[in-house]
Amino acid sequence: SSGSDENDVVVIGGGPGGYVAAIKAAQLGLKTTCIEKRGTLGGTCLNVGCIPSKALLHSSHMYHEAKHSFANHGVKVASVEVDLPAMMAQKDKAVGNLTKGIEGLLKKNKVTYVKGYGKFLSPTEISVDTLDGGNTVVKGKNIIIATGSDVKSLPGITIDEEKIVSSTGALALKEIPKKLIVIGAGYIGLEMGSVWGRLGSEVTVVEFASEIVPTMDGEVRKQFKRSLEKQKMKFMLNTKVVSVDTAGNGVKLTLEPSAGGEQTTLEADVVLVSAGRTPFTAGLQLDKIGVETDKVGRILVDKRFTSNVPGVFAIGDVIPGPMLAHKAEEDGVACVEFIAGKEGHVDYDLVPGVVYTHPEVASVGKTEEQVKALGVEYRVGKFPLLANSRAKAIDDAEGLVKILADKETDKILGVHIMAPNAGELIHEAVLALHYGASSEDIARTCHAHPTMSEALKEAAMATYDKPIHI
Ligand code: FAD
Repeated sequence: SSGSDENDVVVIGGGPGGYVAAIKAAQLGLKTTCIEKRGTLGGTCLNVGCIPSKALLHSSHMYHEAKHSFANHGVKVASVEVDLPAMMAQKDKAVGNLTKGIEGLLKKNKVTYVKGYGKFLSPTEISVDTLDGGNTVVKGKNIIIATGSDVKSLPGITIDEEKIVSSTGALALKEIPKKLIVIGAGYIGLEMGSVWGRLGSEVTVVEFASEIVPTMDGEVRKQFKRSLEKQKMKFMLNTKVVSVDTAGNGVKLTLEPSAGGEQTTLEADVVLVSAGRTPFTAGLQLDKIGVETDKVGRILVDKRFTSNVPGVFAIGDVIPGPMLAHKAEEDGVACVEFIAGKEGHVDYDLVPGVVYTHPEVASVGKTEEQVKALGVEYRVGKFPLLANSRAKAIDDAEGLVKILADKETDKILGVHIMAPNAGELIHEAVLALHYGASSEDIARTCHAHPTMSEALKEAAMATYDKPIHI
């Protein structure tokens, strides 16, 4: 067993942070063990997050297109129906194949994989209650905590994953709810709301704050919200959930304005609570070795991902920073590079964010609000997808590209894209920011025609000069 000999690196958690750290450590020649309690690798992201949500977003989009758009393209279908079990089975197959693929990657890289629940005995010893009912002690010179995050509810609301669901339950509903209420207008709520909305649910999003997706550029957000409203998603902003009643057939919510005021009620078949996620360290026995956390439970680390306990590191959703899979992966690689005596680096200002609705919204760098707050003089270049030939050709032209650049130097400060494939388009901008490019650098780069990427080039032209096609 792995318990008898000491590892260079032990990773607790097999999510995108943990499994990537484990593979990288092994690639750097370090003897590595990865401990995961779930029974499958890939963490939240592969099992109940990024991947199943994208599977359902794609399937529901196909249905919606077949029902509402095919005819516009001269494609006649006699009747279109949802086969929900088949849709769920396709999602489960994708998840199963990918999690098994990760297991193959650990094997290929000679990472020892221990299935079980890890807890600290000392800064170099982890006791694992294995899934087969046994116990083993895994020793390591360096321990990386990559235990991720868990769903969070709201005071007074108990998630039963039937009528009141978290994102996990919303990925596995057995029936299409007639009415769905989403509490929380973050990206997860809007993505899951879109899935069920496309399949026929009446979706109402209740949000305490005055805006949806608070991190989004304000101007883009306005267009995005209008687009979702066109898709029949309803929003109740500045609204607080006071209580939840599950006594009857469905669920009855009592609401009031966030600032206080008259109460109203709203009924639904299913309520999705997507009011954020919370770092997960339960059962790890962090107190036993004295690892420090902040007041919301995140493990505090320095720039080298070291906690206050030497030899104990933390990465991903369990430390401060954007709770995103690609950020966790970057953390994992950099952390292991430090352990191996190399330099690691993550630029947290350049972590792209994507909302995978239709159209998608993707961004990197600063929003206009952030640039203003910094007091930087800036220029804005915009280009609507309506003026992009490819988007017009395929009749999918809702959205825009918006670039913010320094007024004096033209250095790009932020890029915001709303487009059908914004999550792919954004990476040209991510690379540009990474290399400290100016908007003119993008504008003078030859882009293939006809592509939606040309909208980025034209927005770049609009930033320091004039676009051609508008
Ligand atoms: P996790 O993925 O949470 O993995 C931690 C793992 O550690 C878990 O598998 C857990 O079982 C295990 N573990 C915990 N404690 C122990 C222990 N004591 N012993 C052994 N094992 C333990 N992010 C994106 O970038 N793009 C998306 O499109 C996206 N969509 C999402 C959609 C949904 C519905 C949700 C919920 C999340 C989504 N996310 C997305 C966020 C993404 O899933 C997380 O940011 C990412 O999974 C964090 O990775 P991690 O490795 O830090 O933690």
